Amino acid sequence: MSLYNPKSLKAEEFINDEEIRETLAYAEANKNNSELIDQILEKARPKKTALGHVCAGLTHREASVLLACEIPEKIEKIYKIAEEIKLAFYGNRIVIFAPLYLSNYCVNGCVYCPYHMKNKHIPRKKLTQEEVRAEVTALQDMGHKRLAIEAGEDPVNNPLEYILDCIQTIYSVHHKNGDIRRVNVNIAATTVENYRRLKEAGIGTYILFQETYHKESYLRLHPTGPKHDYAYHTEAMDRAMQGGIDDVGLGVLFGLEMYKYEFAGLIMHAEHLEAVHGVGPHTISVPRVKRADDIDPTSFDNGIDDDTFAKITACIRLAVPYTGMIISTRETQEVRSKLLRLGISQVSGGSRTSVGGYTEEERPHDTEQFDVSDQRSLDEVVCWLMKNGHIPSFCTACYREGRTGDRFMSLCKNGQILNCCHPNALMTLSEYLEDYASEETKKIGYEMIEKELKCIPKKKVRELAMQNISDIKNSNRRDFRF
Ligand code: SAM
Repeated sequence: MSLYNPKSLKAEEFINDEEIRETLAYAEANKNNSELIDQILEKARPKKTALGHVCAGLTHREASVLLACEIPEKIEKIYKIAEEIKLAFYGNRIVIFAPLYLSNYCVNGCVYCPYHMKNKHIPRKKLTQEEVRAEVTALQDMGHKRLAIEAGEDPVNNPLEYILDCIQTIYSVHHKNGDIRRVNVNIAATTVENYRRLKEAGIGTYILFQETYHKESYLRLHPTGPKHDYAYHTEAMDRAMQGGIDDVGLGVLFGLEMYKYEFAGLIMHAEHLEAVHGVGPHTISVPRVKRADDIDPTSFDNGIDDDTFAKITACIRLAVPYTGMIISTRETQEVRSKLLRLGISQVSGGSRTSVGGYTEEERPHDTEQFDVSDQRSLDEVVCWLMKNGHIPSFCTACYREGRTGDRFMSLCKNGQILNCCHPNALMTLSEYLEDYASEETKKIGYEMIEKELKCIPKKKVRELAMQNISDIKNSNRRDFRF
């Protein structure tokens, strides 16, 4: 009998190898089954209700059939529905963030990451609180309001106390009109008690990439260090939720294992969180392995091409319509452009993946975690987004207003996004334009704001948003939010 049980708290029961293999066989057997594919597509399509749109999402089996599908016109439909879902729940807003690398000390042996312990020639660096302040000042000078902090795993050099000190420092910096309003955290799996302390420190999302759901590969790719423990890593999000963090971010490092296996595992993980905690993942990231100091991505057998990558992104969009999706500067402008239409809701901009990189004039490579493909400045990214019809949003209101976990989901489901996220996006964009933008970006930005204000359905909200934007333009008053 299969051990598969989405409600179990045991990794090997909610990410069950046998169930994944059966799912892949089912998907393969039905990849040309037009009738079934049409039924699945119909289920995935957003439906209009009196309150707005609703979407059923898909099970891991249904979504895996779509991913396996090879019929060109059905694949086109997958893309079309992904776009419809994106517009129905996220509109044309794209949330902006940047990573901040705190320390590259690491005791793990991850074979795809240059921070692995055996790498003796990479300089090891850990920011002092003074350096954190300098990095945050540089990030604020670019216009960032939302960060994802990153660190290797090292209980001596980067204990949780160090991470907590850094979070406190980051929130304490108020340079000119700037501040960091949301700190997301991407650090190694830890204990319930430590997650509780992170929650108390006011973090936004706790992000932890599974890297691979395939246990055997996981053990081989993480041969040494605490991260070797597959169950401890895979069950981390349950501990995070037990510790009170209700926004968690999943991800797979594509290229390590067979993408169809990873995809089924990822959707099963989302189903598990929903089944046990009543709320699915807040975000899903889709990183691909990149070249780095002593890492050659071609040495991994499972690299995926850009078309497959787009199909995976679209199928995730259909399976978990209410989950935000993140694409980083690991990808080129071209790939990012394509994926933005297929469901991505967050992008990083102006990123540096080295420890202390933001205070350097030139992008330093010595401590870089991986090559950045999109090397444009934040201003260039903001301008490009708008030229392509997306509203860059620096909004961080939801978690600060207590709209996390299922409360955020209900906002989505009740069609209130246009009265809430939309004005917040426009107000924070206006802050960016006033304080940091180039002349060209500012001009395009205000044209966009003027047009988009009209899309706010509630008259009272619309008028207040207009008033707030006028205050932002004419004074140093900042941080208006609904
Ligand atoms: N040490 C933490 C952990 O164990 O999860 C923090 C995460 S690390 C700073 C951020 C992520 O970068 C990793 O989870 C991994 O997926 C990704 N990464 C590592 N090496 C990479 C590479 N060569 N190319 C692309 N992404 C990489």
